[in-house]
Amino acid sequence: MAGTKPHLNLAVIGHIDHGKSTLVGRLMFETGAVPAHIIEQYRKEAEAKGKATFEFAWVMDSLKEERERGITIDIAHRRFDTDKYYFTIVDCPGHRDFVKNMITGASQADAAILVVAAPDGIMQQTKEHVFLARTLGIGQLIVAINKMDAVNYDQKRFEQVKADVTNLLKTVGFKPDTIPFIPLSAFKGDNIAKHSENTKWYTGYNLLEALNNLKEPEKPINLPMRTPVQDVYTISGIGVVPVGRVETGIMKKGDKVIFRPSIDGVGATGEVKSIEMHHEEIPQALPGDNIGFNVRGVDKNAIRRGDVCGPVDKQPTVAQEFKAQIVVLQHPSAISAGYTPVFHCHTAQVACTITQILAKLDAKTGSVKEQNPAFIKAGDAAIVMVRPTRPMAIEKVKEIPQLGRFAIRDMGQTIAAGVVMDITP
Ligand code: GDP
Repeated sequence: MAGTKPHLNLAVIGHIDHGKSTLVGRLMFETGAVPAHIIEQYRKEAEAKGKATFEFAWVMDSLKEERERGITIDIAHRRFDTDKYYFTIVDCPGHRDFVKNMITGASQADAAILVVAAPDGIMQQTKEHVFLARTLGIGQLIVAINKMDAVNYDQKRFEQVKADVTNLLKTVGFKPDTIPFIPLSAFKGDNIAKHSENTKWYTGYNLLEALNNLKEPEKPINLPMRTPVQDVYTISGIGVVPVGRVETGIMKKGDKVIFRPSIDGVGATGEVKSIEMHHEEIPQALPGDNIGFNVRGVDKNAIRRGDVCGPVDKQPTVAQEFKAQIVVLQHPSAISAGYTPVFHCHTAQVACTITQILAKLDAKTGSVKEQNPAFIKAGDAAIVMVRPTRPMAIEKVKEIPQLGRFAIRDMGQTIAAGVVMDITP
């Protein structure tokens, strides 16, 4: 199925019950990722169980059960392809590790479908997910105004929801002019694979066309090279081999590199002798490449996971303190100055103290709501000062976005996500 089509990771975001699972099931069905005979089998089982309506969300659930029983079929992987791309659906924001996976790059989404149910319009999680999508750097968006069947395919209702979502997107910095808004029904299939007779007033793309029209993400090759270290090996006859993924820039054989912060806090320098990917030697590595690279002149003990490799003349930034914008996703009580959870940024995990809460922001407009608040809680966005308990390589999100994002974890869950605005070296 994959063939040679370019691959995109797709996130499906939106308020609970607005139809995300149903839409994923529908997409997989319409693109042939779920064979018709399997759909028919589920429909019969649903009828037998007395389920009057056949729901795609239920297909997804059944598939999950099958997977749990150890039966693997293609559809369990949540993959489908259009004429142009091969898509993988990445974790949804409701899932525990979505934010952490996005930030550490384990499942960075290239694009997102924002699902908003026409009867409800914008709800709390719609706002949170839009804010998160922006914070996490999801560049491209498609807005699916779902459940149009439940509002009699009413154009006025569509325009109203579209206007509300447009405003919301503008406040967080998306450019709504470039974003398709599609009136659809995931349940009935309107405007998914072909233009629906029920929305004669709509002349825009159907969902598959909008997916085809997404841009292939460009590799950030013009930024300084940054390769966060995942692991370090010593291979006999070769030497020290750090392993990691190039996030930005290009790494070439012969490059003079530095690892920061490194154990002594100064940085270990060396020269790239060889680069390997998929067991083959390559002359240079590009963003997205998972590589092992042999470095001459460094001691294995001077490098560790969480260090960042960069060119000696454009070194990774090490922060003693930094200013950040965060959004609190979940926290049982309140966060105040002095709180020291673990920050996850690229491959680094460092305990950091929130030393000051400078301002609480209005989640809708982004403007300052309160200066120096005593505490912040779930649902709040804020500007804070952060002091890592040990030196940490991190970049301003404006300069190197890939290394300017972090997740804050505590009590086994992601409690906040944020971006670095300013750094005190
Ligand atoms: P999720 O929580 O966002 O994943 O939402 P689900 O996909 O589980 O859908 C929630 C409920 O809305 C289910 O009962 C669906 O059958 C229903 N639903 C989803 N899409 C549509 C739609 O296009 N029209 C109507 N009328 N109901 C829908």
